[in-house]
Amino acid sequence: MSEIIRIAVDGPSGAGKSTIARAIAEKFSIDYIDTGAMYRAVGYKLLQKGISLDDRRAVASMLAETEIDFRNGNIFLDGENINDKIRTEEISRQASDCSALGIVREKLTEQQQKMGEKKSVVMDGRDIGTVVFPDAEFKFFITASAEERARRRYKELTEKGEKVTYEKVLADIRQRDYNDTTRKINPLKKAEDAVEIDTTEMSIEEVIDYICKEMKK
Ligand code: C5P
Repeated sequence: MSEIIRIAVDGPSGAGKSTIARAIAEKFSIDYIDTGAMYRAVGYKLLQKGISLDDRRAVASMLAETEIDFRNGNIFLDGENINDKIRTEEISRQASDCSALGIVREKLTEQQQKMGEKKSVVMDGRDIGTVVFPDAEFKFFITASAEERARRRYKELTEKGEKVTYEKVLADIRQRDYNDTTRKINPLKKAEDAVEIDTTEMSIEEVIDYICKEMKK
């Protein structure tokens, strides 16, 4: 692939975006950027430092001293690989809460735009097709019912040994959907020109096939 292409993969939590985006990146040999992990990294650091989201001044100065980057599919926060530390329910909530802050979104959006300036990328998130790359070459909006997303997430968490109930996971997913779609700045919404794929009754392979066909159209 000679020209730069940006593929935006947006949608609610647990719809399978990251698995799908990673597979597409591999198929086309381009970089995969998990923007949710970037919000998780900020949430993780705020928790570690005990900074309240209400203390905007402290959040701003922390952001000014924060470096987030990806190496070999791992996310590094200030030089530390935090991949295994940011997938808990606590960090999911913290990421969702801090993603509503304008200063957090500004910093991460700018960084994401830089990442797609010089090379092709698949980026997954909530606002990639609407805000980060409104002119992306390809846009997909991946959804699934809240119950199906909760089932997938519950399986993933229990396999990792986290003690959770399905009901709690479903309630958290609904809460995050609410936060993500109602926040004032850059809420989750389908870009008008995005292709919507409801994956409730589809396997990952079927979704990837579907996307590849769309890209060849
Ligand atoms: O995708 P993931 O569940 O890891 O994202 C964690 C949280 O980060 C989401 O609930 C959402 O609030 C926020 N997020 C965002 N914009 C993005 C990616 C994630 O607001 N582009």
